[in-house]
Amino acid sequence: MMRRFSCRNLLVVLYLAAFSLCGSPAAPAQAAPSPSEGKLSVHWEELTASDFREGIRRSQGTCLLPFGILEKHGPHLPLGTDLLDVRYAALHAAEQDYAVVFPEYYFGQIAEARHEPGTVAYSRSLQLGLLQETTDEMGRNGCKKILIVNGHGGNESLLPYFAQTQLDKPHDYVVYVFDERTPGHGGPAKKTKIDMHAGESETSKMMVAHPELVHPERATSESGADQARQKIPADVYTGIWWYTRFPFHYSGEGAAATRELGEYQMNWWIDSVVKAIRALKADDVSPKLQKEFYEKSAHPLDTQP
Ligand SMILES: [Zn+2]
Repeated sequence: MMRRFSCRNLLVVLYLAAFSLCGSPAAPAQAAPSPSEGKLSVHWEELTASDFREGIRRSQGTCLLPFGILEKHGPHLPLGTDLLDVRYAALHAAEQDYAVVFPEYYFGQIAEARHEPGTVAYSRSLQLGLLQETTDEMGRNGCKKILIVNGHGGNESLLPYFAQTQLDKPHDYVVYVFDERTPGHGGPAKKTKIDMHAGESETSKMMVAHPELVHPERATSESGADQARQKIPADVYTGIWWYTRFPFHYSGEGAAATRELGEYQMNWWIDSVVKAIRALKADDVSPKLQKEFYEKSAHPLDTQP
């Protein structure tokens, strides 16, 4: 049976509502700690909205986009090797010099591995379209300097092309690309000469980033030798070149890998990204001249001299 709702009941409800809205004068609400105090995650997806605002302020608008791929890595490394390695390097670098790091991104160029299981090869238009929308969204959220840290050899033509075509119309952010993963010299002596994919260097780095995902006992179950089946001049390019030389998507000898080499190379990679972050934060030339360029390119006949 329903009770009748009297005026007295209504007054009690209004009083309780006013009390809960205004709070008790005897117990003032505690001030929330400011996000500007204390440590902030470098992971975009781990920040609250207000912490994200503080992260962009703290990073001076410098954000990292670590770029991986899903493809076979010899018989002994995981499909996500490039993604896992590049994120390890980028996240450790951002911890040393604060930058906001975009979540997992693996939508690059990998047509040459479509014959192997586990490869995810998006179309050319989607690769470029998604990357543009991603950097546009990063820019809209305050990332005015976007460093794409490339973890995958097959992106080496895509990324400079993407960066060059940022000049086709105005953007209020600058795209930078860092595309080195292995030092040219120094560190423990390498044992192998061919070392391009899932070989000594890449396997060594994975022993640091995710040792539990490396299967060294399988590294000799396939050949990573150069099959040199194509007889055309070295300065003539064709897309099938990789398959003609390394049809098993394996180039080098993963069995030669050591954790010692991996630590040297990974530390070099992290240090290099830290240097790039510092240089970008200090770079006031690129944004200024890019803006000037956009203004001039809108009316080239007026450009002097
Ligand atoms: Zn790789």
